[in-house]
Amino acid sequence: MSKRDYYEVLGVPRNATDEEIKKAFRALARKYHPDVNKDPDAAERFKEINEAYQVLSNPEKRKLYDQFGHAGVSGHAAGTSGTAEAGPFDFGPFAQGDFGPFSDIFEMFFEGFGGRRRRGPERGRDLEYDLRITLEEAAFGARKEIRIPRIETCGTCGGSGARPGTQPRACPRCGGTGQVQHVRQTPFGRFASITTCDLCHGEGRVVDSPCPTCGGRGQVRRERTVEVNIPPGVDDGARLRMRGYGESGFRGGPSGDLYIVIHVKPHPQFQRQGDDIYVEVPVSMVQAALGAEVQVPTLEGTETLKIPEGTQPGATFTLRGKGMPRLGRSGRGDQIVRIRVEIPTRLSPKERELLQELARIRGESVAGGGQSRGFFDKMRDAFGV
Ligand SMILES: [Zn+2]
Ligand SMILES: [Zn+2]
Repeated sequence: MSKRDYYEVLGVPRNATDEEIKKAFRALARKYHPDVNKDPDAAERFKEINEAYQVLSNPEKRKLYDQFGHAGVSGHAAGTSGTAEAGPFDFGPFAQGDFGPFSDIFEMFFEGFGGRRRRGPERGRDLEYDLRITLEEAAFGARKEIRIPRIETCGTCGGSGARPGTQPRACPRCGGTGQVQHVRQTPFGRFASITTCDLCHGEGRVVDSPCPTCGGRGQVRRERTVEVNIPPGVDDGARLRMRGYGESGFRGGPSGDLYIVIHVKPHPQFQRQGDDIYVEVPVSMVQAALGAEVQVPTLEGTETLKIPEGTQPGATFTLRGKGMPRLGRSGRGDQIVRIRVEIPTRLSPKERELLQELARIRGESVAGGGQSRGFFDKMRDAFGV
């Protein structure tokens, strides 16, 4: 049986450091240990890995191996091939001393597949809720009641899972530790491999008479009404965290959190940009020309805005402090009012007469006045709409 190169076995380069060799060995040993890998070839592979590590982890042996190959270390490894058929748990001459990797394997057992200890308290899951609100609610805050289904500690048994009047008892198989030890005699010595108890599934307790409400799980699914306080100034996409409003924890662990994700519905009139509110207000061409007081909608009702004589289409006016409250700070943004000038589409005979009179005074040619361009064309030009 020709032997594979030890570096190749561990998958490390010839100049690998001790640390790299150790790391490679541990990773491979975890993978191929016969206790975890049931592949029939795994035991053979594990033995090979061990042998390679025995040599490469020992500076003297590694040097000899580097110089002379397998022949250089045959004195140490000679017996190995001879005992190849001795069975999966016989690791050859290394069993008798020179226990370099012993502590590694030992540690590996407890880190890698030592089984879980009795399960401790576990935090409940976080929940997320999408909440749609109006822009006004976003501006001034609101209290909202929402209904969320969540898992809670069973009120009947207080989470023990046992029928009221009875108690869970310590698991007879594991004695309440939640794990079971299997002691195995190996050439390295006695190994304790530890696995999760299959009777109590690691809980350490068994329930003889389950709680009728939760069926022994200790938890129930319930829909709860939760009151959410929306802070003034909140923006679309904000996440509000309600600590402890998520699902109940297990075994005395804390509850998870509830996250409220804010979705602000589009407003028919207002557009929000940061803390400012934009709104477009229509005025007539006469109001624009002569100036006027116009009613402007704001987040808190209507407001009177004075526009001066000769206001142009698209002109903007700022209502200071009428925008959104600044979240978590004092003060508010502004409301920006943009003027839209409306040209009448239908005129009464009297209105037409007055406007034609105006056109004559201004020396403007208009339709109906014997001139080529229409009145509305002129007005549209004048107001740029
Ligand atoms: Zn219960
Ligand atoms: Zn148990």
